[in-house]
Amino acid sequence: MRVSTPSSKTWPSATTIIETVIRQTTANINLDNICHNTRVARQASSGGHLMAVVKADAYGHGAVPVAKAISELVDAFAVGRLSEAAELRRAGITRPVCLLEGFLDEYEMQMAAELNLQLVVHTPEQLALLNQAAPAQVWIKIDTGMGRLGFHPEALSAVLESLDNHKLLGLMTHLSSADEPDSSPTLDQLKQLEQVASNFTLNVGNSAGIVNQQLTAPNITWSRPGVMLYGGSPLAAPEALPALKAGMTLVAPVIAVREISSGSSVGYGRTWRATEDCRIAVVAAGYADGYPREIRAGTCVLTGNGLREVVGRVSMDMITVLLRSDDEISIGDAITLWGEGLAIEHIAAAADTIPYTLMTGVTRRVVRHYG
Ligand SMILES: *Cc1c(COP(=O)(O)O)cnc(C)c1O
Repeated sequence: MRVSTPSSKTWPSATTIIETVIRQTTANINLDNICHNTRVARQASSGGHLMAVVKADAYGHGAVPVAKAISELVDAFAVGRLSEAAELRRAGITRPVCLLEGFLDEYEMQMAAELNLQLVVHTPEQLALLNQAAPAQVWIKIDTGMGRLGFHPEALSAVLESLDNHKLLGLMTHLSSADEPDSSPTLDQLKQLEQVASNFTLNVGNSAGIVNQQLTAPNITWSRPGVMLYGGSPLAAPEALPALKAGMTLVAPVIAVREISSGSSVGYGRTWRATEDCRIAVVAAGYADGYPREIRAGTCVLTGNGLREVVGRVSMDMITVLLRSDDEISIGDAITLWGEGLAIEHIAAAADTIPYTLMTGVTRRVVRHYG
């Protein structure tokens, strides 16, 4: 077989296709809703200084457009990686940007300085590197029970002594259990902080800490909301929070409507079988778009006719939805997988996960549309 590509041909680009195809699997990002959620976070935060967490591409919503939209509503941004900070700076974001995981070596430290970042310092190795460098703005991270990053509270005074002429912004800690109804782990973490740090600025609350309003110490003046900015509930309960609005609505078109006769099966493994003649809609969203394969039976999508059940296994590119006999549905109709009208918390619970993994798991081929 001879395969030849005419050299004169210019193939249409992916960008052209994304910009011209009308119906495609799309994450509609509602920046007004994200601004609304940011205001909610500010009102609920003690002390009122907000460090908006836009790591992981703003939890899948697009770090640059989100940061631009909320820039005037927040005091700083936080990211996990240097590359994420660079993306913000190159897009013209001038607000303070904090590098939550700090730096690993001298090169990263220099890059962070070039990007004018606030640093989170959590290891003796970082302290040693810092003290050979020009003054930086640093948060000292204290481990009060998360068990991941940070100095033990007893080490704080030694850490402060060894920190040469850098600007200390305050102390940071991360809450391990603020999403759970039992508040005792959080209260214990706060007590540990208060014992060593009563006269420092404290940067404590994640979304769950803000929502549960347990962070009442007067020196807790900074919060770091993430998921709530995007409308996701940080709490363990699979319910949306009424005060928040969906940042992302994931939609996909119907690409086929099929008649299925009683007794026939649908999808891989033939796990679902029609008990009567019926119709299904085939929708162009699958696990390769970030729709979870793990959903339990009975999980729904939102159609123009209301909620309808996903039947059969989730494939890489498609799901299959059971219609009712009088449903009016056409090829190309937009189906909502989560977002406005269908809380992401329900889909997360159905897949035995949390809204965070769904938001951050929306893949590259899904078009982001901003409105
Ligand atoms: C991701 C992260 C946050 C934000 O957490 P949410 O639960 O999304 O609000 C806050 N602080 C640190 C250190 C983080 O890594």
